[in-house]
Order: sequence, then C-alpha cells, then structure tokens
Amino acid sequence: MTETRVETTVYDFHTHSFHSDGALLPIELIRRVIVAGYEAVGITDHASPGNLRSVIDALVADCRLAEEHWDIRAIPGVELTHLPPAAIAEIAAEARRLGAEIIIVHGETPTEPVIAGTNLAAARCPEVDILAHPGAIDVDLARLAASNGLHLEISAHRGHGLGNGSVVAAAREAGAPLLVNSDTHQPGDILTFSMARRVALNAGLSEEEVEQVLRRNPRHLLEKIDGRRIGRSSIAV
Ligand SMILES: [Zn+2]
Ligand SMILES: [Zn+2]
Repeated sequence: MTETRVETTVYDFHTHSFHSDGALLPIELIRRVIVAGYEAVGITDHASPGNLRSVIDALVADCRLAEEHWDIRAIPGVELTHLPPAAIAEIAAEARRLGAEIIIVHGETPTEPVIAGTNLAAARCPEVDILAHPGAIDVDLARLAASNGLHLEISAHRGHGLGNGSVVAAAREAGAPLLVNSDTHQPGDILTFSMARRVALNAGLSEEEVEQVLRRNPRHLLEKIDGRRIGRSSIAV
C-alpha cells in the first residue's frame, strides 16, 4: 500500500444495506466504500430472530464475492436491534453460529426508545464486538464492556451522535477502546478519512487519541475477526 492510502484509509464496522433499512444492495455499498477510501467495511443490518438467517446469508454471499474480486475487507454481520435485553446473549450466539463475523448491539441512543438494560446486556456479552451509540453511559459500563472485549462506538450518525460526548468521557476513564462508525443507511452517509477525523475531534478526542481510534483500534478488531475466520476454516477442514 502506498503512503497516501495508509494516511487516508477508512475503517467502518457499522453500515446498513437494503436487507434492513439501508438504500443499497450490499455489493453496491461495498463498491461505493472502496471509492471513498475504505480498507474494511462491516455490513451490519438490523436483525432479530425473524430475519437473522436470511440477513446473514445475503451479506455473506455479497461480501465473499467482493473479497474474491476487489481489494477490500467486507465483513458480514448484524446489528441486534430493540431486543429484550435478556435475549441478547442467546441471539448473539445464534448469529455467530449462522456466520456473522461481526456482531453489534444497537445501544441506548438518545433518539429512540431503546429499552433500558440493553447497554448492560451487551457489555456483559463477550460474543458482541461493538456496543453502538450507547448514549449516556457511566465508567462502570465502559469498564465492563472493555473487560469482555467490546469496542464502544463514536457515531457519525446525525441523531445517535448526540451521545458521543458521554461515550468518550466514560471510555477514556475506563480505558475502553473506541471506534468511529458511520451507521450508513444512504450513500451520502459513507465516511471519508477526513470526515471520520472530524467526527472524532468533535467528540472531544485529542490528536493522539484520534490516531488510536482511527487506526490502531480498527486494526485490532480486524485481527480478532481474522482469528475467528482462521478458527472457522480449520474446523471446516
Ligand atoms: Zn443502531
Ligand atoms: Zn445501525
């Protein structure tokens, strides 16, 4: 990779295709993020038990095709959304069995009536990779999430991003890893590196923290996803 590519690479683990409420076919979303400078994209459609299998099958097929032909990490996943908190761990495990490579929980954003206890159920569940837009959280929740290997999300989404200040404050005190995700639903939501950087700085991160959040943390999560892929393929053999 050239120096230019490294400097402007985007990692984004939270996007939606039309298999939930996004506008694009997964393969079109992948094509468009390549043009925007992405090295990795997670496609994480809203899911509940009723659509879990069909969403994962559809995303796996397009992500595989993209990775065979193009220079992109395309990661099929789900965003578990508005579920009863007591059911989250079991449904996350089922998503993993069905082939989800990344599992996000739709956290307690200030802009929707997400049931209280959702953040806690996600933070307790090591199968969950990212607690998205958790809204106003405290340091104990951030610490619990980090201890179970979750990343917390700084959201570029116009509504969910209202909680970013609280997320940064709690994560900083807890030493919990943060990511910037777009939560893309429409083509115009796709990030560029400079937009991701602006979102991070406006959420209150220092220059040094931006480096950590836009580069090192995403690479760490990619390594975790790679490790699971290797585990799966050795089981298949
Ligand atoms: Zn969400
Ligand atoms: Zn989302």
